Amino acid sequence: MEAAASARGGAARPRASFEYVEGWGMAVGAHGRVLRPRSVEEVLACYEIARAEGTTLGLRGKGCSYGDASVNLGGHALDFTAMNRILSFDPATGIAVVEPGVTIEDLWQRTLPAGWWPAVVPGTAFPTIAGVAAMNIHGKNNFRAGTVGDWIVEFDLALPGGEVRRCSREENADLFHAAIGGFGMLGAFTRIVLRTKRVHSGDVEVTAARARNLREVMDFFEARKAEADYLVAWIDCFAAGDGLGRGQIHEARHLRPGEDPDPARTLSVAHQHLPTAILGVPKSEAWRALRLLNNDRGMRLLNAMKWRAGRLEVMKGPFRQAHAAFAFLLDYVPNWKWAYGRTGRRGLIQHQLFLPVATAHDAYVEILRRNQRSGFVPYLGVFKRHRPDPFWLTHALDGWSLALDFKVTPENRAGLWEHCAALTEIALEAGGKFYFAKDLVLRPGDARRMLPADKLAAFEELKRRLDPEMLLQTDLYRRVFGVQSGG
Ligand SMILES: Cc1cc2nc3c(=O)[nH]c(=O)nc-3n(C[C@H](O)[C@H](O)[C@H](O)COP(=O)(O)OP(=O)(O)OC[C@H]3O[C@@H](n4cnc5c(N)ncnc54)[C@H](O)[C@@H]3O)c2cc1C
Repeated sequence: MEAAASARGGAARPRASFEYVEGWGMAVGAHGRVLRPRSVEEVLACYEIARAEGTTLGLRGKGCSYGDASVNLGGHALDFTAMNRILSFDPATGIAVVEPGVTIEDLWQRTLPAGWWPAVVPGTAFPTIAGVAAMNIHGKNNFRAGTVGDWIVEFDLALPGGEVRRCSREENADLFHAAIGGFGMLGAFTRIVLRTKRVHSGDVEVTAARARNLREVMDFFEARKAEADYLVAWIDCFAAGDGLGRGQIHEARHLRPGEDPDPARTLSVAHQHLPTAILGVPKSEAWRALRLLNNDRGMRLLNAMKWRAGRLEVMKGPFRQAHAAFAFLLDYVPNWKWAYGRTGRRGLIQHQLFLPVATAHDAYVEILRRNQRSGFVPYLGVFKRHRPDPFWLTHALDGWSLALDFKVTPENRAGLWEHCAALTEIALEAGGKFYFAKDLVLRPGDARRMLPADKLAAFEELKRRLDPEMLLQTDLYRRVFGVQSGG
């Protein structure tokens, strides 16, 4: 179906305001106008506004991308959070039809009581469905469940020219595979249909394990990946020598029918809520305590303590944990990122390095050593296993990823970017890839080296055809693809 819709001359006027729009990691942002459409007609009206004003539009969900993926210096932001209705959910099939600004949290709260859980979720519940589709996000189950795109059935894409095009694996298949993971450069998702996963309990069974170095972490994952539903490892990036890459692993599996004695209770939204206090401190204030530790010495200590405490968790054996508590660990401490500083271009960046099976171990060892030699030691390291998928610009591959959180200050900024460029080079030489949702450091040319040439050329051809005026732009697009502002 190709539903033509036009707002030309229509009365649809989106709400607008002037705001500071920043990347989630706070290290980048821009002042500008934010347009908040409430309907497809208003989305199309936004295109007309940008065209009439000779400016560009950067599409934005909840702004949970760490870097500049939804920042658009010099142009407007087109924010979808006011289009946030779940249009339908079928408890018999688990299929949901949503507007773009519905969040992961909105979705699971609707589906879980009926026994369905979003099949692929990030480490936070706040992103929108459009945002996760545009980045083709992965979860701790990427090796098993694929990326979110694998669960999307169809979507409507509002093209800059004013047409709304329906896309699926059968209809407009090229655009389907290009727009998922296409970081908002081809059009705006205005309606998304996705499958969720049947679950028989509101809990998963979690098993903790410790690995004394990176080789042991990888061996554990390989031994367990046929059985586990989820696998993730925290890596202590301060550990050196024989302990390089040591970490605490969490494996989880869904419960089978009958294993949960009271599924009606565990499937309730109330059962999923995260605790409101940590060690007696209201969660909303916990970031202040973390701020005291937010330096190299404090983080070395915190990582070492976590490693030691891990032994106790292993001893306690398998335990049950609510889906939300397991999946959205990073939401436990609201605004924990503020521990990195809230003003003056302070914050954090994440550099997530994806490497194929054959080269991963040695390249990660080199990367971890280089961090320590250069004095840029990540405060958090997270390790996952991935698999390839059919989306054109996907970051996923048959291999691994190591996500590294680096503190950014005005003083270390230039040196840190140089350091990340060196890490990027190691990964590219090893056949690696990067992830636009987490990026603020790639340079023009890096994307061309990591993406398949035919897919990139086809993507650029679609961009020229569907958006010849280059209405849709972001800082990320201009930085990584070397495009000049305004086209
Ligand atoms: C604490 C934390 C943990 C995370 N964990 C993970 C993880 O485990 N795995 C993972 O894969 N990611 C993870 N992420 C990244 C996050 O899932 C992605 O950045 C996601 O894209 C954010 O969605 P958003 O709604 O905030 O969109 P934004 O960040 O605002 O935008 C993301 C992209 O979507 C585009 N976009 C927005 N709306 C539309 C639309 N209507 N149509 C087309 N394009 C649009 C934007 O232009 C941009 O390119 C994490 C982020 C945080 C902050």
